[in-house]
Amino acid sequence: MYVVLLGLPGAGKGTQAAILKDETGLPHVTTGELFRENIRQSTDLGKKAQPFVESGRLVPDEITIGMLLDGISQPDCAGGCMLDGFPRNVEQARALDEALAAQGKRLDRAIYISVDTDELVRRLSGRWSCPNCGAVYNEISLPPKIPGVCDNCGSRLEQRKDDRPEAVRTRLEVNLKNLEPLLGYYRAQGKLCEASGEGLVEEVTRAVRACLERER
Ligand SMILES: [Zn+2]
Repeated sequence: MYVVLLGLPGAGKGTQAAILKDETGLPHVTTGELFRENIRQSTDLGKKAQPFVESGRLVPDEITIGMLLDGISQPDCAGGCMLDGFPRNVEQARALDEALAAQGKRLDRAIYISVDTDELVRRLSGRWSCPNCGAVYNEISLPPKIPGVCDNCGSRLEQRKDDRPEAVRTRLEVNLKNLEPLLGYYRAQGKLCEASGEGLVEEVTRAVRACLERER
């Protein structure tokens, strides 16, 4: 079973994929991990991807798709896997479909973990760090004992520009613009299943599991 996990940053895709990997044995394949692994092993694709990754530029689709296909052809993905971080837009989704079809495979399902934008802003803008010792906190999941003060060294915590609510909201809106047509693409194929990403982690897992178990 080949599954794509979709969702905005902060929706909990990584968390859910890790839980479901333990529960179902479906390996979790992320583009970030594929890049690191290919670069570490100096594969042909790794060598091509390296300059892009190192300079923080977007790796071209053909390289990313090459790595994905290679990744899902490995023995541990023989029974299927969960893809995370790809596709990011409709062009990539089409390319993935074509590439899978060429190997006699198909994507079975696209699971969208949906979370309200305001809630995501709240989750993502809760990050604070210590300019003195580098400790990182989160208002919700890992709050310092005294608000705004580092537990380790007592310094005043700072928020990076990127983590401020306005910046987070802008980033989410850009992501959403790419995500919406992608959801439409999978909906039209009858492969889209939406799982609410709000609520407790266990509740989200239940919703995602229901998507995995849904009859085709
Ligand atoms: Zn500190």
